[in-house]
Amino acid sequence: MNTFREEVRDWLSDNCPNSARGSGEQITIGSIMKMSDPALLEWRRKLGAKGWTIPTWPKEYGGGGLTPQESHVLVEELRAIKARVPLVGQGVTMIGPTLLEFGTEDQKRRHIPKIALGDVMWCQGYSEPGAGSDLASLQTRAVDKGDYFEVNGQKTWTSGAQFADWIFVLVRTDTQVPKHEGISFVLMDLAQEGIDVRPIKLISGTSAFCDTFFDNAVADKVDLVGQLNKGWSVGKRLLQYERSGHGGLSESSARRVLPEPDLSATAKKYIGENSEGKIADAAMREEVIRFAMNTRCFKLTQQRAREENASGKAMGATTSIFKLYGANLSRDSADLQCRLMGSQGNGWAGNSFSRKELEWSQHALAYRANTIYGGTAEIQKNIIAKRVLNLPE
Ligand SMILES: Cc1cc2nc3c(=O)[nH]c(=O)nc-3n(C[C@H](O)[C@H](O)[C@H](O)COP(=O)(O)OP(=O)(O)OC[C@H]3O[C@@H](n4cnc5c(N)ncnc54)[C@H](O)[C@@H]3O)c2cc1C
Repeated sequence: MNTFREEVRDWLSDNCPNSARGSGEQITIGSIMKMSDPALLEWRRKLGAKGWTIPTWPKEYGGGGLTPQESHVLVEELRAIKARVPLVGQGVTMIGPTLLEFGTEDQKRRHIPKIALGDVMWCQGYSEPGAGSDLASLQTRAVDKGDYFEVNGQKTWTSGAQFADWIFVLVRTDTQVPKHEGISFVLMDLAQEGIDVRPIKLISGTSAFCDTFFDNAVADKVDLVGQLNKGWSVGKRLLQYERSGHGGLSESSARRVLPEPDLSATAKKYIGENSEGKIADAAMREEVIRFAMNTRCFKLTQQRAREENASGKAMGATTSIFKLYGANLSRDSADLQCRLMGSQGNGWAGNSFSRKELEWSQHALAYRANTIYGGTAEIQKNIIAKRVLNLPE
């Protein structure tokens, strides 16, 4: 293993530019969003060409072909030099692994290398105005036109669709059968006349997600993933990859770390310390300790689950446990951070708040979404009850 570590160190020292170390401009993916620093683009290209953006994926599709242990070494070395994560997003965490499991050889060869290089950005077309938790009620219709499907309907909450190049979509291909049995999974190029992406403007002024309209849009038959009308199984498996990412179980999510509050330091700063140097308020002290212990236990459990899962593929329904716990923990810890800051933790704008204080009040709001996307907390509990604990319906 030492030899591999040395190889990694040498390679990083030759190829990772200073501007890709530490914080700074985010490395973007896809053909639509541009980076101003060309060195970052070059860093992403080099890492991609080496296969190390997605280290454990097979070499023939642009991955690194590394074992999980080698990948772990690579991650440690990237962390050691604070190298910025060159590849994130739904290509790596969701559609890539799903195509590796369900895709045809042609689909893998056409799509996966572009994901590995970060050249193409993907988004997810699942939710509809009338189909969220009850996803199988989706109505977006795809009609067989020979070489292609003609797609009509609307998806909503499509995160990042305004920046994405391709979308994976659950469509209804049979209306005459029980709802789970008439769904297919297709890949669609967003750069076509029949697709209209409209960013949804939030009260904060930003647009994290979009409404996506399909008006006689084209999904090529060669981009049907899995069998016709069997898309529900493919779609569900993709959700396990998604939840695995949110739950900190996947290779890429192990590197993606949500900002974590330093609760103890915050409490001492805003509440004060007693003569023993402990948080002055006993009740708050207990809460902070409880969070520290829960966070530590969760991280160890994630690490154990990653180490025990030698396949590198997402686990099954148990991913819901990690998604549920992780989402609640990050939401509650950001909430506690703001409570510890008192009125300084409720700011939105203005000079009476520091940049950090404003950031945390926004994190506390944003982390609430963790318990909604990828399936709400209640839906995760339903899955755990039915599929993990085998409780009766
Ligand atoms: C930040 C963010 C990003 C998102 N990105 C995407 C994306 O990229 N692509 C995409 O397709 N979707 C995306 N979504 C949508 C997300 O998947 C849905 O919001 C989610 O599945 C819930 O659906 P809904 O909003 O329609 O709520 P509903 O399904 O209407 O649920 C409303 C409430 O009822 C509860 N509920 C519903 N059914 C049950 C049940 N059977 N048992 C118990 N409780 C139940 C829910 O838990 C929830 O609290 C995103 C959402 C957010 C917040």
